[in-house]
Parts: sequence; C-alpha cells; structure tokens
Amino acid sequence: MKKPLENFLCYEDTSLIEGLKKIDTTSKGTIFVISRQGDKFLGTVTDGDIRRLLFKEPTLDHRIGKLVNTNCLKVEKGETNEDISAKIKSVSYKVRVLPVLAEGKCVDYIEVSPVFQIPVSSPALLGNEFEYVSECIMTEWISSQGKFINKFSEKFSEHYDYEHSIPVMNGTCALHIALVSLGIGPGDEVIVPSLTFAATINSVLHTGATPKIIDVEYDSWCMDPTKIEEAVNQKTKAIIPVHLFGYPANMTGIMKVANQHGLKVVEDCAQAIGAKHKDQYVGNFGDVGCFSFFANKIITTGEGGMCVTNQNSISDMIKKLRDHGRDFSKKGYFHDVVGYNYRMTNLQAAIGLAQLEKVDEHLNFRLNLQDLYREKLRDVKNLTPQNTISDESLGKSVCWLVSYLYEDSENRDLIIEKLKEQGIDARPFFTPLHLMPIYKDYVVGDCENARVLSEKGISFPTFKFKDTETIEKVCSILKSTL
Ligand SMILES: *Cc1c(COP(=O)(O)O)cnc(C)c1O
Repeated sequence: MKKPLENFLCYEDTSLIEGLKKIDTTSKGTIFVISRQGDKFLGTVTDGDIRRLLFKEPTLDHRIGKLVNTNCLKVEKGETNEDISAKIKSVSYKVRVLPVLAEGKCVDYIEVSPVFQIPVSSPALLGNEFEYVSECIMTEWISSQGKFINKFSEKFSEHYDYEHSIPVMNGTCALHIALVSLGIGPGDEVIVPSLTFAATINSVLHTGATPKIIDVEYDSWCMDPTKIEEAVNQKTKAIIPVHLFGYPANMTGIMKVANQHGLKVVEDCAQAIGAKHKDQYVGNFGDVGCFSFFANKIITTGEGGMCVTNQNSISDMIKKLRDHGRDFSKKGYFHDVVGYNYRMTNLQAAIGLAQLEKVDEHLNFRLNLQDLYREKLRDVKNLTPQNTISDESLGKSVCWLVSYLYEDSENRDLIIEKLKEQGIDARPFFTPLHLMPIYKDYVVGDCENARVLSEKGISFPTFKFKDTETIEKVCSILKSTL
C-alpha cells in the first residue's frame, strides 16, 4: 500500500535526527524538503547525503535544509509516463521515489519499482574466492607461479581422474596448444562439428591446419560419428568433438572411427565439466581434453582454461609450449620449439580452486534448476527440452545453460525479444559454423541438423538465483510469453 505523502515531507529547519527518523519511515531512503510555510518544494535529501555530511562534519547540529539537492529529479503534475521514464533513464543513479509538483508545491509522489533484470548467466562466487585472491595479493604471488596454480591443477586431476591438468589462459588457447602438442599444423585437416562456439574452429585455423565441418546428431546436438568418415582423407589428422551444452558426445562411436583411421582426438569440454560418457568423465577419451573457465561457464576463473591428458609426453609438450617452448631440462633459457605464453596466473587459479571446491554444488543447483524449468514449462506448446542422461552405464549429462528447442522456429527471435522487454535475457543457440561466410569453404555434407537446431534453440537464465521467488517470476514470465 502506498504510504501517505506526509511521511515524505520534511521542513527545511528540521534537525538531522528528526530528518533521519523521517527517512526511516519512508523506507525509500529519501525525503522531500519543503519551506517552513509548506508552500514550496525545495528539493530532496537522501540517507546517503546525511551520511556524507556526518563524515565531513561530525555534529548533529545541522538542519536538513543545509543538504537539499535543488536539482533533483522531479515530475510536474500531468506529465506523461513516457516523459517520466525518460527522466528516470537519463540519470545514472537508482531512482526509487519521485516528488510530483504543482505550482512549486509538492502534491504527490511516484514510487519507482526496481527494474527486473535477469541475465542469462552470472558467476557464483560462493566459497573461498575472496580469501584465496586476497592471499595472492598479500603474499605478492600474483603472476603465473604460486601455490594456487599447483593446487588447482592437482585438484582438477584428482576430481576428474586425469593424469595431468595444465592450467592455461583461456579455453581457446587450451584447444590451440592441444592441437600444436599433437603436431598439427599447415597441410593437416581437423574435423569439427558445425554446432559449436567459434573457438573450436578458430583454434584449428590458428595452427595453420584446415578445418572440416560435419553435422551433429539431432538428439544429442553433438558431433555425429557416422558423418566422420565422409570427411576423412590422407590429410586428416584429428577430430574435435564438442560436449555441447553439457551433453556428452558419443565418444564410443567417435573413438572407434578415430582409431580405425589413426586420428588424434581433442575433446572440447568447455561446456561440460563433470559430464560422463559411460562411466568416465569427459576429457578422458581423447588425447587431450580442453576446458574453459570464462565467466559464463559452469566454473570460472574470470578468463581461464585447462588442458587435461593421460599421456606424459603430451603433458610435457603442452607445458613446454605454454612457456615459450622452453626446454626445462637444460640450464639457462634454452628454447627448442617456438612456443607461446599461455600461462594462467595464480590469481586466476585462486578463484579456480575456490570454484572447484564447490563444483558439485554448482553442478547440482544447475541440474535442479533445469528440473524446475521443466516442471514449470511442462505443458507449454512447441517447447522441447534438451535431452539428458543420468545412467551408470550410459553416462551423465550436466547442465551448462538450460536449453530448449522452440519448435515454431520462425517465432523464436520474437520470443527472445519479448522476454528481453520483460527483463529476461534468453539466448539463441550459436550460428552453425557452416553458415558463416568466413568458414563456408570448410563444410563437408549438408549439416542440416545443425541448421535446424540452431534456428530452434533457446537458452534460459541459468545460475544461482538469489531466491526462489525470482525463479518463480522468471518461469511465470516465460510461461506467459511462450
Ligand atoms: C567457451 C568455449 C570455448 C572457448 O573458451 P574461452 O575460454 O572463451 O576461450 C571453446 N569451445 C566451446 C564449446 C566454448 O563454449
């Protein structure tokens, strides 16, 4: 219920204490100051104004009139809603309440409800992140050596059964360095799925090799093993399956073809930490697995990545390439290959370790959120949820972004726009690689599944919401819009 205007009105000669009490009763942090005669609106005073004054001049002898913001935002009686919202948008601070004036006198007020804004994703820094980063700063270990690098790497290997985990700067350089460590370069060909983020194919192009784009399976959204052979020839050296949106690619099928043709395999696990094919974690099937810890991934280090491998020689090569191609067995700075500086910093690893300590919690709340969306959106027409698996023998999917196919694909973008108007950031799927002009020469076959999935795909906000009310509100907006 709207409070009476009197709650907000405060005479200019009121004492600070009385003014503060008044502000408290408004619960908006603002009062409207009027002249002693009550016939004139002078301006507003906020609790922040009083706090700042007390810091500067710590005495309670001031009168409220001393603090008045005369050029505060105000509204004339009769102004249109459009004019009012333009005014609110024109200032950088949060407006919670606006005085309404008529002939210089305050006659009413307008409450401005906070704007409902839900991003598609937001990092969950819920553990020791702050403590560990502070430790880096206090101890001055902020560059690419330090205990958090080692701990992050050890714990990553331990948690997901990898022999070696090598932290790097981001997921794209993880993929790049993985390919280079396998000897891939100009003249070679590498097979990638069409439905993925551009980093997958860019990493191939950065080595000088030629990518070959093939289609995905309609059900798993991941690389179709039966399409690989079409793209294989004498020059083919490697395959990069992507575990898309947390769903594990069919690694049994992919490894079978790879082994038949002697191809290396780099798994792009950027969206699928903790996912399993059969009873093994992704990243354990190919020669190298690559992770990203960008801010919208399941765990984050701000920017960051990881290469994992079970082969000692590959691990050594990745470490060498990450560090300018230096030969660590020789004294001095002796370099025997041309490498890169792809090292992760201790600061990033400090955040990464804290994130990893809670990774199962992060994964669980995403899975629970996915279930909740499913339950709420169960009878919405035209909406097909992403497939999931959770089975001892088949594998386990994780949830990166809660994703659906909107079968009425012509209206998918309209839905996204309508949701945006209501403060909800929903996202379309990636544009398939084969439909972007810069990659069009690399296509093998028609990649129809990738095209159709990309036209239908939509991802909804997926992160640790503040409270269940917010989730309920998001779901009800989704339901009514869809
Ligand atoms: C995020 C992502 C990458 C790249 O990771 P960055 O850390 O952003 O460089 C690679 N592949 C896929 C599938 C991704 O989602």
